[in-house]
Amino acid sequence: MSWDFQTDAAYQEKLDWVERFVREEIEPADRMYDHPLDMADPVRNALIPPLQAQVREKELWACHLGPELGGPGYGQLKLALLNELIGTTLSGPVVFGTQAPDSGNAEVLAHFGTPELKERYLQPLLDGEIASCFSMTEPSGGSDPTGFTCQAVRHGDEYVINGEKWFSSNAKFASFLVLMAVTDPDAERHKRASMFIVPADTPGIEIVRNVGVAAHGGKEGTHAYVRYTDVRIPADHLLGEEGGGFEVAQVRLGGGRIHHAMRTVALVRKSLDLMLERAVSRETRGRRLADMQLVQEMIADSWVQLEQFRLLVLRTAWKIDQVKDYKKVIADIAGVKVAMPKVLNDVAGRALQLHGSLGISTEMPFSKYVLESFHMAIADGATEVHKQSLAKQLLRGVTPAPDLFPSEHGLRLDAQARAKYADVLAAVGTGGE
Ligand SMILES: Cc1cc2nc3c(=O)[nH]c(=O)nc-3n(C[C@H](O)[C@H](O)[C@H](O)COP(=O)(O)OP(=O)(O)OC[C@H]3O[C@@H](n4cnc5c(N)ncnc54)[C@H](O)[C@@H]3O)c2cc1C
Repeated sequence: MSWDFQTDAAYQEKLDWVERFVREEIEPADRMYDHPLDMADPVRNALIPPLQAQVREKELWACHLGPELGGPGYGQLKLALLNELIGTTLSGPVVFGTQAPDSGNAEVLAHFGTPELKERYLQPLLDGEIASCFSMTEPSGGSDPTGFTCQAVRHGDEYVINGEKWFSSNAKFASFLVLMAVTDPDAERHKRASMFIVPADTPGIEIVRNVGVAAHGGKEGTHAYVRYTDVRIPADHLLGEEGGGFEVAQVRLGGGRIHHAMRTVALVRKSLDLMLERAVSRETRGRRLADMQLVQEMIADSWVQLEQFRLLVLRTAWKIDQVKDYKKVIADIAGVKVAMPKVLNDVAGRALQLHGSLGISTEMPFSKYVLESFHMAIADGATEVHKQSLAKQLLRGVTPAPDLFPSEHGLRLDAQARAKYADVLAAVGTGGE
């Protein structure tokens, strides 16, 4: 039997290095640029590649990938332990080659891309030389992808794409977009759409505007409102089967959700650490905050939430490593996705509160973290949708009660026990009364 909460010594050594590297190299670098994928920024270009080189040297580049794709093949559990160290940084995922949406797009290309597409896009993406975009959500609503209208129509050996997409993150930095478009509006709901690779320099792609997210700062937003007008791509840019868009989406979204959660552990832990420091540093009415019972309750509740969430994330990562199929862990991933925004909102909110006016200021990270919790509750599927999905998974195959009363109804259990021990009752002569 194996049931172990320890990290092996060799990997722990790497994690110790990561912790120092984050503190001494990535955190200061993060204060020097707007976006770690903005390859037009000379400061970014001077700082990030040397950091990536150090990560490669330590064999920690693209830890989500197996050796066939140039990763070390550590698996999701080890990736989780790494991500919970880099998750507070802006550029950690880029420095370690694990940033979304590139990580998911690489998986999709590896699974479904032709050899030509892999050569043109996968290798440079894995090497961190280019960035990519995932263009699925539409302006009319993202929660129900079966209602999408952006269309790809086959003409000879090309597809012609017309429609609009919304919140296509990093489109302005991307060399290609992974696009979901309707190929057969009359098909069964989950067979209507297909997934494509669209080279970013194809005529007809227009970024209507780049939308910003309050928590993310930066001079200009990075979430593109994209219009596709008569965009022509070769037919072999279809990923998987025509009508298989939902299946392809599952390959990338499962991983993306759990990777976000691993990094969120870092934000929650940082919030708690800063809360603890504040509690022993600040005095009011002649006592430290740490000595007030209401503050102690905030601290205790935060620790419990962090540890519960972290264990759920780590166990889900471990399960993915066991079954190697996100679809088989779909309920666990939905549970993690549901827990994530609440835990971050609660703990970062308490940290903000304990820091008072300083806590809500832009000089501390808490207001960003609180807003980030809403990002977690919306992106990759709204919390409500994941709650529904989790409940449906849990309800699947459950047997109804045998009659009007639950199977564990006390009177039923009494009767069953009396039947089981009828001989004992007969022997002692009580008759069960
Ligand atoms: C920071 C960020 C980055 C993103 N990056 C990308 C990206 O790179 N590519 C991409 O394609 N998309 C991206 N998205 C979009 C994201 O996937 C969508 O925002 C999400 O799917 C929800 O769609 P919507 O915003 O249109 O909300 P809507 O679908 O309009 O839903 C709005 C709200 O309605 C409620 N709701 C919806 N459905 C249900 C239900 N079944 N039951 C109860 N309540 C419900 C929820 O409260 C939900 O938040 C990103 C979003 C964010 C915030």
